[in-house]
Amino acid sequence: AKHTLRNSFQFFDAAITNASLEQLQIETLLRRAIERNELLLYYQPKVDRSGNLTSFEALLRWNSAELGMVSPVRFIPVAEETGLIIPIGIWVLTELARQVREWQRQGLPLVPVAANVSALQFAHVDFVQQVADILAQAALPAGWLELELTETMLMGQIEDLRRQLTELRQLGVTLAIDDFGTGYSSLSYLHLLPISILKIDRSFIMRLDQSDATVERSITNAIIALGHHLGMQVVAEGVETEGQFQILLSAGCDLFQGYYIERPLPPDETVAWLRRKV
Ligand code: C2E
Ligand code: CA
Ligand code: CA
Ligand code: CA
Repeated sequence: AKHTLRNSFQFFDAAITNASLEQLQIETLLRRAIERNELLLYYQPKVDRSGNLTSFEALLRWNSAELGMVSPVRFIPVAEETGLIIPIGIWVLTELARQVREWQRQGLPLVPVAANVSALQFAHVDFVQQVADILAQAALPAGWLELELTETMLMGQIEDLRRQLTELRQLGVTLAIDDFGTGYSSLSYLHLLPISILKIDRSFIMRLDQSDATVERSITNAIIALGHHLGMQVVAEGVETEGQFQILLSAGCDLFQGYYIERPLPPDETVAWLRRKV
């Protein structure tokens, strides 16, 4: 027994060491990723009840020379722990503005794009100013930028929060709550904040078309009712099947995003969607 225990400790040690080594390697390489031009944005369309394009969500991709394509699920947590999310977040907004300007230059229609914002980025004292600077530099018609925040970010002092969000709103930014229903819900003051969009988390959508998914259907219906009651639009993320889409349509959901509609696309393929919009 003693022997086994020791072996399992050694195994445990090795596992921890491997995990932190991987973390360290990601951190080292991520530090250089911006200057080496390894980050890029993919775009996933969101459509309305008639299937018309309404906006895109920008999703970060890292094409590392050493590691190959790294999922944001792996590198965003490292970026948050190391503070690298601040320069990366600024890169995302700057690149988004550059891309939208480029599409405008090509005569494509102006379609709003959404950026994901991490908690650390949002908590940064300069966040609103960073957004203001990027908007001023972009010199695009108002309304092109959406920001996806998570519920957990909205737990601070309500007055500070309200001021910060109102400033963003006054800059012409549309605010959405991402992964709605999975965080600590701020239901009691949701109506006090200038939020326009609720995104139902994929975990509720995933099983929606299975016969025993009564809980998921109740939660989805409740989020749609709440959103509409507060004058917000409701988006379903991660819609993968016709069945899920039909249930959401009957439930009154406004906007749809997921593989059933389209996968996240590289910039060149995104242009095809923009042309279809015309
Ligand atoms: P998220 O904001 O909830 O984004 C949705 C994720 O679901 C994306 O994963 C998207 O590719 C994926 N997805 C979309 N439709 C479907 C579907 O029908 N089925 C399935 N199974 N998945 C679908 P992705 O691109 O790997 O991003 C993962 C997470 O990384 C995002 O979750 C977001 O939290 C974070 N992230 C991505 N880009 C950024 C960024 O620029 N900044 C920050 N702070 N976080 C980002
Ligand atoms: Ca998102
Ligand atoms: Ca999210
Ligand atoms: Ca999600």
